Amino acid sequence: MDFSFSEEQRSILLSVERFLDQHLPPEEVRRRDNNGDPPYHLLPLLGDMGVLGLPFPKQYGGLGGNWLTMTLIQEKLGQKAAMLCSLANRVVGFGGMSLITYGSEEQKQKLMPGIIKGNLLFALALSEPNAGSDAAALRTSARRTKNNWIINGQKTWISDADAADYMIVACRTGAPDSGAKGVSMFLIPRNAPGITMTALSKVGNNCLPSWDVVFDDTQLELTALMGEENKGFKHLMATLHYARSSMAANVTGQAQAVVDLVIAHATEREQFNQQLSKFQVIQHRIVDMQTAVDLSRLFSYRLGWLIGENLPCRRESAQAKLIATETLLDVTDKGMQILASAGYSTENDMQRYWRDARLYTFGEGSNEIQRNIIAKELGL
Ligand SMILES: Cc1cc2nc3c(=O)[nH]c(=O)nc-3n(C[C@H](O)[C@H](O)[C@H](O)COP(=O)(O)OP(=O)(O)OC[C@H]3O[C@@H](n4cnc5c(N)ncnc54)[C@H](O)[C@@H]3O)c2cc1C
Repeated sequence: MDFSFSEEQRSILLSVERFLDQHLPPEEVRRRDNNGDPPYHLLPLLGDMGVLGLPFPKQYGGLGGNWLTMTLIQEKLGQKAAMLCSLANRVVGFGGMSLITYGSEEQKQKLMPGIIKGNLLFALALSEPNAGSDAAALRTSARRTKNNWIINGQKTWISDADAADYMIVACRTGAPDSGAKGVSMFLIPRNAPGITMTALSKVGNNCLPSWDVVFDDTQLELTALMGEENKGFKHLMATLHYARSSMAANVTGQAQAVVDLVIAHATEREQFNQQLSKFQVIQHRIVDMQTAVDLSRLFSYRLGWLIGENLPCRRESAQAKLIATETLLDVTDKGMQILASAGYSTENDMQRYWRDARLYTFGEGSNEIQRNIIAKELGL
């Protein structure tokens, strides 16, 4: 077992770090978070660096790189600018990996070049007002006519729906009670007719705009179907490990940033004539935080490696998501306690990490659902 990074991995991580220092230094991250202004304009630059094409096959213009290298990049992005990491993850995972895994050849030829160049943004629309964890209860319908699909229904909490060029939308094509067996995936352009969007307000992740989306007789060409009819859930499940891996890496990076911030504060701030970091209780807390982050990192790398080797990873992907997101929640809580009033100030990055962290234990499949998956994998 070899835990070292290759020369190529070191070099790309250095380039990503320089890129972030230049384009998204901490004050720019703060400014964008305060203004809810996502850095969409950086996607084409990430594309130029080869980051967005890294995991895709060469036949579609990708670099044919290893998913583990993608994991390392996602962690670095998460550590320095999570807002860009989650954007890149949506382009690569929700967009590219969905297309590569179950898109038609025509859809791949048409869209992969734009994904790899960073010119196309994607949203994934699965959740509905009455279908969150129980996604198979979704009701948004797709009805086939002679020449078209007609979509009707409502999706909710769809990240970046308004800015996306395309939404990948899960719709019911089977009978109303067909559950997971009657769902199909559709590629819906943002500018298709009959789509209304309403912005949702929330407490964190300000650069991840959330939208309620209503489809009212949205008419699509027959070629808008992605993959096989009524096999949408199977297709979705086949790409979930990319999403979980991307989230685990992003969140591990954020957790490391929190520990670094806490160490910087605890070594600078003095109370009772000594640095906070000299109090044993603070030291132990920081040690526990760093140990938990290292553990998240190991789970994230193991998952990245399994995906890169094309090996089964249902249990490991649920575990990586679970550990990384609960670690971030825990280190932001402990970090807030150590920074105290300094961390509670809106001038300090601590409050942003703390607010943002709350999402991940239930977003993209709650941790209760991850535990259900792991229990099933353990034969329970
Ligand atoms: C900021 C943000 C961005 C999002 N982005 C997207 C997006 O881009 N696309 C998209 O489709 N969705 C998106 N979502 C929706 C997200 O995926 C859902 O919030 C998530 O799936 C949980 O669903 P819910 O919120 O309806 O919770 P519910 O399903 O109502 O669950 C409530 C609680 O009950 C628990 N629970 C439910 N069922 C079980 C069970 N069987 N066993 C044990 N516990 C259970 C849950 O774990 C949770 O703790 C986003 C949400 C947010 C807040």
